[in-house]
Amino acid sequence: MFLMMKYCKRCIMPSTRPDQIFDEQGVCNACLSHDYKDKINWDKRKDDLNEILQKAKLNKDSWNCIIPSSGGKDSTYQAIWAKKNGLNPLLVTATTCDLSEIGKKNIENLKSLGFDTIEFSTSSIIRAKLNKISLETIGDIAWPEHVSIFTAPIKIAVNFKIPLIIYGENPQLEYGGPKESLDNSTLDKRWMEEFGGLIGLRVNDLVENYGFKNSDLSMFTYPNHKELDKLNLKSLFLGYYEKWDSLKNYEVAKKNGFQNYGDDLEGCYFNWEKIDNYQHGVHDYFKFLKFGFGRATDQLCYLIRKKKITRDEAIVISKKLEGKFPISYMKKPLKKILNKIDLSIDDFKKICEKFTNKKIFKTDQGGNIIYDDKGNLIKRI
Ligand SMILES: [Zn+2]
Repeated sequence: MFLMMKYCKRCIMPSTRPDQIFDEQGVCNACLSHDYKDKINWDKRKDDLNEILQKAKLNKDSWNCIIPSSGGKDSTYQAIWAKKNGLNPLLVTATTCDLSEIGKKNIENLKSLGFDTIEFSTSSIIRAKLNKISLETIGDIAWPEHVSIFTAPIKIAVNFKIPLIIYGENPQLEYGGPKESLDNSTLDKRWMEEFGGLIGLRVNDLVENYGFKNSDLSMFTYPNHKELDKLNLKSLFLGYYEKWDSLKNYEVAKKNGFQNYGDDLEGCYFNWEKIDNYQHGVHDYFKFLKFGFGRATDQLCYLIRKKKITRDEAIVISKKLEGKFPISYMKKPLKKILNKIDLSIDDFKKICEKFTNKKIFKTDQGGNIIYDDKGNLIKRI
C-alpha cells in the first residue's frame, strides 16, 4: 500500500512525522501549539521562574545552576541569560560524536566570554561503536548524542551537588507533541525515555546484546533515584517560562561571538543550526528516508509560523534543498564521516535501503527502490 502524504494546511509538515496530529481543519499540532503560546500567561510563569532563581541564588559560594551547552545558538543565549539574571552557571558540554571546526570555535567562544565550562568527551571508541549499532538497528546515528546531552549535565549536577539544571526549549511546545506535554516545565527520566530520541534502544539492551560493560556506558546512564532525591534536583525548560524563539536566540548569540557556518549547509535552510557535528547530515538524511521530510522542512515551517515566508515559497525551497544523498556535510566527505565509525559507503547504502520507507518512495514491481540519475530517491507523490 502506498502512503498518501498529507500536509498541514498552514505549514508544510507532513502527516508522516511521528506523533503527528491534524485538527479537523487540517492544521498540525506544531502550528496549534504556536497559537497556544499566545494564550499562555507568561507574566505568571516569569514570577514562578523568579522564585526558583531567588532560591538558587542563595548558593553564593559555588555554581548555582548548570546550563547544558553545545556551544550552539540556544545554549549561548541561555548562558548569557543566566549571567544577566545574576546566576553563576556552570556550562556542561557533552561533546558531539564528530565535533566540527565551527563547533569547536563556538565552544571556545563561551570560554572566552568568561564562563566556567566542563567538556565531557566519552571514549571515542565506545562512541563510534554506538554510532554504528544505532545506525544499523534504529536508523539513527545520533543515539549517543541524544542520550549524553541529557545524562552528562545530570551526572555533573549530582557530582558537584548543583540542584538546578536549565535546559532550553521544550521541544513538544516548539514542534508539537501530545497535549499534556505542552505544559511540561521539567525534564526527568520519564521525559527522556518518552521524548529524548532513544527510539527504543536502551543501555540495558547494549549490555545484554552487544557485549558492552556497564562501566563503558556510565555517561549514558541516568543517575539512580537515591542520588537525585538526595540532591533534590530540578531540571527545567527555560522555554516553559519565557517565550522561546530560535531566531531571537541566534541574534543574541551572534552579538556575543557565536559564528554561523558561513556557507550553505546541505539539506538545511539555516546555516546556524546543526553545525557542531559532521554526522548531522547522516542523521537528517535518515529522517528523510523514514518520514519523507528533512531538516529544511522543520526550519521552513518555523518561518511560516513566524510569517517570514509564505507556504508556497516554502514548498519550492524544501523541494530544492531536501532529500539529497549526503555526499558530504560541512565539506567533510561522507567517506571520512563513515570511516570514523567503521562503515564503507556500500555498507551505508545498504543501511539506507533498510530504512527507506517504500510507502513513500518509488520502487519497481519487484519492490526494489528506484533512484534518479543522481542517486536520489523519488517520492511516489
Ligand atoms: Zn502546521
